[in-house]
Formats: sequence, structure tokens, C-alpha cells
Amino acid sequence: MKSYKYRVYPTKKQVTEISLQIEKGRLLYNKLLALKKDAYKNNGINLSRKDLYRQVKENNEMHSQVSQNIAGRIDKAYKNFFARIKRRERKKGFPRFKKHGAYNSLTLPQITNPNNIGKKTYFPKIGWLNIKYHRAIQGTPKTLTIKKAKSGKYFITISCGNVPKERIKVGNREVGIDLGLNHFITTSDGEFFDHPKPMKQLSNQRKRLARQFSKTKKRSNNRNKARVKLARTDEKITNTRNDFGWKLCRKLIEKYGAIYAENLNVKGMIKNHYFARAITDVSWSDFTNKLSFKAESAGGKVVKVNPKNTSQKCSGCGEIVRKTLATRTHKCPYCGLEIDRDINAAQNILTKGKIGQELSKYKPVGVEATTDGISPKQALSMKQEIPLQ
Ligand SMILES: [Zn+2]
Repeated sequence: MKSYKYRVYPTKKQVTEISLQIEKGRLLYNKLLALKKDAYKNNGINLSRKDLYRQVKENNEMHSQVSQNIAGRIDKAYKNFFARIKRRERKKGFPRFKKHGAYNSLTLPQITNPNNIGKKTYFPKIGWLNIKYHRAIQGTPKTLTIKKAKSGKYFITISCGNVPKERIKVGNREVGIDLGLNHFITTSDGEFFDHPKPMKQLSNQRKRLARQFSKTKKRSNNRNKARVKLARTDEKITNTRNDFGWKLCRKLIEKYGAIYAENLNVKGMIKNHYFARAITDVSWSDFTNKLSFKAESAGGKVVKVNPKNTSQKCSGCGEIVRKTLATRTHKCPYCGLEIDRDINAAQNILTKGKIGQELSKYKPVGVEATTDGISPKQALSMKQEIPLQ
């Protein structure tokens, strides 16, 4: 499965209808969730997906398939919840009621006329949509999701099956990559890759807007305006990051068939306040996920190695050479090697990868929305909502 996202330009009438349908969807979601919770609490009955489908049959205010998808979302929310319990995750994320504004998409789970995709696209109850198809779709269109973003923009996501493998000619060399604060990526071949310049400006802009937002009064008009501005900057940051990330992935994969990267303990690092800001900005784990997703679909591999001592060890002789973060050059008193500290680390990562100190493959993740139209990001924000109960 692969997802494609396009901007939608709805008419005024459609804007009203989208809001109305989304609100109906939210109420239906909450109603079904209450039914499921009550059936269990009062009678010990676990309502299945089919039971929930039966419940939405009488609802004719929404398109039957769209409302079925809502029942499916609840079923999925429960399945994910139980999976998290099974994995003994700290955050269980019990399915919760959706507050106003926390529900922002509608999904048509089966596209009835795939031939219209890429040209004119129809969404039930909303009508023919004006969509900017900026790139071609590959594979068979399966589901169609319309979403109102926090920035006030509208998007559709089309997830496709049978997507042909990407034709990237995978390189035959091996490389170690060091993920750092000085350079986003340093390779064992001595190449540096940095975020594009606009990223820094956007990041400063975001800081300024976040300050403005925090000064506004709750539920005021100004607060809403500030929220939209902030969301638009976030959208730009995400786009810039994605664009840069995918291009860099391609560059690396075309050169290297095996890429070794350190196994990041991002959770552990975020506790350290000095790093927190930088980590969220550069988002290494987002990049390594992209890299492994793309590498695997092209026939290459990305492997995690244990990062222990990779920055302190001398890549020339193997001795430990202690240095602080401020020391930019690795100078070895034992063998005389003098190289950039990040290149030294990248070479150690390559060595570890080569001799098989591999931990495991990175888990490749999908790109945009999942089949039920809820993206991982949305899934995360759902956990933070306050239950109405
Ligand atoms: Zn040495």
C-alpha cells in the first residue's frame, strides 16, 4: 500500500458540506464508541465489527460506506489498543471520545470508479472535487480520504494497492552514517549532508508564532488566527523536511546497497534538555524510517548497529579516545589519526555493521495515511484527548 496526498480546492458550498459531514462523522463515532463501551460494561458483550456495521445501517445522513468506515475506525482503535497492551507499552491509549475539532477526516473505503481518480474525483455527499493532481498515481486506487487540516487547507489522500516497485538502481557499496547535530548526516566516506537553509528560518518563525499563540486568550478570535498561522508553518516544515529527506534517501540508496546507522534511543535522549529542541527539529528517526522504507522497496537494506563507543573509539586503531561534544576533531594519541569526529564515528558504525554487530533492521513505516484514513500522527494526537466521560 502506498498513499498519495493532493490539495483540494473546495467551493464555498462544499466547505460547508465537508464541515457538516465531518461533524456528523464525529457524532457517529462517539455514539458507536459509547455503544461498544456500554455493551461491555453492562452486559459483558464485545461488539464486533459486524455488530457496529449493523448499527450504522439505519444512518442515512451519511454515505453508507463512509459511515461503515467510522465503525471500522472504532474496531481498529480497539485492536491497536489491545496490541499495545500485548506489547506491554507504557501508553495504552484506550479508545476515547472525540472532541469537537479532533475529528477531521472522512474516508470512502472502496473507490467505486477508479478511472475517475487522477481526473475528476467525486466524494459522496460533497460532490465533484477540484483537486490539484501534482503527480501521477501508481497502482490501484483503493480508498479515498478527505481531510480538513489544522491550517485550514483541504487534502485528499488516495491509498493504492499493487504499487509497482520503485526503479532505483541500488548501489553495491556499504556505508556507515552518523546522525549528528553539527551535520544532519555524515558518511564514512566523508560526505556531509545538512538540512536546507529555509529550515532554520522556518524553525525560528515557528518559535515566534508559538510565543504569540501562548499569549492569546483562550477561545478568542486571535487565538484561532494564531493557531492557523502556527499550523501553516508546521505544514511547511513537514513539507521541507519530507522533500529533503526523500531526496537524500534516493542519493544514498543509489550509491549504497547496505547502509548502517546507529540504533537511536530517541526517548532516552529527549530527557536530556540540551538535546530536546535539536532532536525534534532534525528528527533522525523520521529520516531512518524513510530511508529503510525506500531502501527496502528498492532492494537495499538499512541496518541498525549498537551506537556504544562509536564516537569515542578510534576508527584507525580501535583505542578509546575520550572527547567532549565540543571537540570537533578526533586526534588519536596512539596511532596519530586525525579526522573529523563525525567521520570517525561513521567509520566505526560501518565497521560494526560489516562485522555483523547488527541489531535488527529498521522497521519500515508507510508514508501517509493508513487504510482507515488515520495517519500515525493523528493516532498519536488522539491519545492526548480528554475523554468526555
Ligand atoms: Zn588510533
